[in-house]
Amino acid sequence: MVQKKTVCVIGAGVSGLAAAKAFRERGHNVTVVERSHDLGGVWEPSRSYPDVQTQSPKELYRYTSKPMPDAYPEWPKGPQVHAYLADYARENGVTGLVRFDTSVTGMARRADGKPGWTLTLAPKEGPETTESYDFVAVCTGQFSDKNMLSHPGQDGFTAAGGQVMHSSDYTDPSMVKGKRVVVLGFSKSATDIAVNAVKSGASQVTIVYREAVWRIPYFIGGLINFKRILYIRAQEKMFPGWGQTAMARINHAIAKPFVWANWRALESLLSMQLKLKKTGLKPKTPIETGINCSVPIVTPGLYDMVADGRIKAIQGTFDHYDGTTVVLSGGERVGADIAVLAIGWKLGVPFLPEEYRRKLVEPDGQYRLYRIIANPDLPDMGFVGFNSSFCTVLCAELAANWLVRYADGQLAKQPTPAEMNDNIEMMLNWKRKERPAAGVYGGLCVAPYHFKHFDEILDDIGAKERKLNPLAENLSPPNADAYARYLKSAPQYMAA
Ligand SMILES: Cc1cc2nc3c(=O)[nH]c(=O)nc-3n(C[C@H](O)[C@H](O)[C@H](O)COP(=O)(O)OP(=O)(O)OC[C@H]3O[C@@H](n4cnc5c(N)ncnc54)[C@H](O)[C@@H]3O)c2cc1C
Repeated sequence: MVQKKTVCVIGAGVSGLAAAKAFRERGHNVTVVERSHDLGGVWEPSRSYPDVQTQSPKELYRYTSKPMPDAYPEWPKGPQVHAYLADYARENGVTGLVRFDTSVTGMARRADGKPGWTLTLAPKEGPETTESYDFVAVCTGQFSDKNMLSHPGQDGFTAAGGQVMHSSDYTDPSMVKGKRVVVLGFSKSATDIAVNAVKSGASQVTIVYREAVWRIPYFIGGLINFKRILYIRAQEKMFPGWGQTAMARINHAIAKPFVWANWRALESLLSMQLKLKKTGLKPKTPIETGINCSVPIVTPGLYDMVADGRIKAIQGTFDHYDGTTVVLSGGERVGADIAVLAIGWKLGVPFLPEEYRRKLVEPDGQYRLYRIIANPDLPDMGFVGFNSSFCTVLCAELAANWLVRYADGQLAKQPTPAEMNDNIEMMLNWKRKERPAAGVYGGLCVAPYHFKHFDEILDDIGAKERKLNPLAENLSPPNADAYARYLKSAPQYMAA
């Protein structure tokens, strides 16, 4: 019999909600601790920049039990995603489990000899408390702690009236009207903000980037929704994956020229469509070597604005401020009123004690996580949503369903610690030697190997149904309704 546990889910974003539902459904007592005043994580409205919308089409950014409303556009806006998440939490009895405005600031193994952890909780108001739980699901995402940079001369820049902000603080476009804006970075947030600043009446917009990167337009060739090309199993098979058999390696070798031609054709198409030569933004690296979670979708209008000069794109980085001028690494001088640092987020689990953090993260920053969910040397805990991708909601839901079974010893293929460690080593080796692109974000990215990752999770869970018919399976993007069926086909149980 599986014993009921007390479970703490840390974070109430997409992943925390999925984890809370999965553990609750199996009969566990769940508490969700969320440091913000509202749920949604990156979609919580006060954290979003204007015009924010999903990169994933809506059918690929949903839980298996709940489609996004028909009235939503193909790429829903931030407030729509937030409303969808709030509905999902309410409908699944999760909203009432969330303790808002409370941060987890530390954790230690329980002193009472029972399995589990004692968490230090810091409410926004009032003193810190400690609470013990049998199991902890860490769902804190990859976008919780801002990366910040300070360049020489910043004090002088701000003293002269300049403003320096992180991209997540760009929430009010009216502040850029008539101002000179410089954005540092070239991620999706960086280009979204640059384009928004132009539309919001900034007098001058400059974007400063280190390297041009391949970006995928919402419609490839202006016609085909990118989900029909980049999200399908047939495309995924072009990337040699981990744990290949000798036969799979031979097949890849035979197909290599065709695969190569496929990528060159895609590059030519994108170069033409996005005016990459004219804008000087054609990347130097082959597109296939960099397909992972860091591939951004094109912000509509970006390349046109660079081509006609409304956005000035300069390669380099900030070197220092000189009065109200930002001096770049190549010596260019850019007058500025607002500097937006779109330089991302710190990856990490800051509340984990150092001795456990060392077991979780390798010296080169790579995470040691079996299936990107659990580490045998970190008992009574697991991670949901660390398997990030282009369809993170499905990733989080599958991880949550895997994790509760792992915690309860109910996986059809419950791994031993030795099996987990061997697999972790194999994956680290593959990322380091065969596919360095898979090492981005600490190796916590399953793109472009969604299907392979999902196959492994479903196999571990013991799902009896796992695929559509071969044609649909190879040519359609992951189908959330089908994954609902696959999850239901796994053995069910309740804790008591
Ligand atoms: C602008 C933007 C657009 C995106 N679009 C897409 C997309 O189209 N498709 C896609 O697949 N992915 C997209 N992503 C990635 C996105 O991060 C994931 O899709 C998903 O929202 C992550 O959810 P999460 O719950 O794992 O993390 P988060 O949303 O980051 O939630 C983590 C939660 O944990 C809380 N928390 C953190 N630390 C603590 C602590 N110590 N104590 C208590 N609470 C804590 C945070 O406050 C937060 O609410 C996008 C990201 C951004 C920023």
